Amino acid sequence: VSLVLFPLVSIFIALMTYMLLGRVGSPISTLKDALAKKQFVPFLQPVVDGTNHRLTGGEVLMRWQHPQSGLIPPYQFIPLAEESGLIVPMTRLMMAQVRDQFGPIAAQLPDDFHFGFNICAGHFKDLTLIEDCKAFLHAFKDKPIRLVLELTERELIESSEITHSLFSALRRMGVLIAMDDFGTGHSSLTYLQKFHIDILKIDQSFIGRIGTDALAGHIVDNVIDLAKRLQMIIVAEGIETQEQIDYLTPFHLDYFQGYFFGKPVPATEFMEKWL
Ligand code: C2E
Ligand code: MG
Ligand code: MG
Ligand code: MG
Repeated sequence: VSLVLFPLVSIFIALMTYMLLGRVGSPISTLKDALAKKQFVPFLQPVVDGTNHRLTGGEVLMRWQHPQSGLIPPYQFIPLAEESGLIVPMTRLMMAQVRDQFGPIAAQLPDDFHFGFNICAGHFKDLTLIEDCKAFLHAFKDKPIRLVLELTERELIESSEITHSLFSALRRMGVLIAMDDFGTGHSSLTYLQKFHIDILKIDQSFIGRIGTDALAGHIVDNVIDLAKRLQMIIVAEGIETQEQIDYLTPFHLDYFQGYFFGKPVPATEFMEKWL
């Protein structure tokens, strides 16, 4: 059977790759072109309070609004954007759009509403990030909001001098740093402390296995215990069921996020639904 299956699977993979590349054309220049045309748009997913389930923030998730292919999800273009460095101007475009969309209606946001942006490791060496964050916060100067930068645990940031001065500048501005997808990578306690990580987002792969997998439950319990000892803000990501909420509620986590509460939607829809 495997003798027949192997060539079939190979042909299938080759075909899919061909179709995918064909869709986005010559990769880097296509991304550049899409950036110039501002085809990258922010979607926002609600983040709610872990106790009363009221809206407390929104995570900004990038989408490529492609004129032919429609909405392209991040896993299809973020890796190349990071490799090519285009992720820096693309992130700036996200911040600018969210700023322009929400700045004028800031009064409608709940107090201490936080906006979360995903920032890749390489971006934490780029001092323009400070200016972009300043510009973002300035648009909300009459309504204090929090700006959160999320970095994933899988690609840890370098401990260079520039990174450290960038981090202290961000901290002085009141920007919070979140460790995303926690539990999937290899960050140590020293790492969490060295970079003064404020927020821990427990990865959805663990939340998704609550109730079916005892080990995942133990990992969640221990991550929560650890984060509490380090006095971090804790977020459970990827909540889809009432059962998961029932399991997590006794832990008194700070925030919940997941399809159970709301999927990522365009800014206008987010405002209509949530504000
Ligand atoms: P992430 O930052 O961990 O974002 C959470 C992802 O989980 C989002 O996928 C979100 O739609 C999805 N999600 C949220 N709740 C649920 C749930 O209940 N069930 C399930 N199955 N999924 C849920 P999305 O939008 O496809 O983004 C995937 C990843 O792409 C993000 O993971 C982030 O690492 C990256 N990404 C997205 N936008 C940006 C960006 O602007 N910049 C960078 N550097 N990376 C981004
Ligand atoms: Mg994130
Ligand atoms: Mg995550
Ligand atoms: Mg993720």
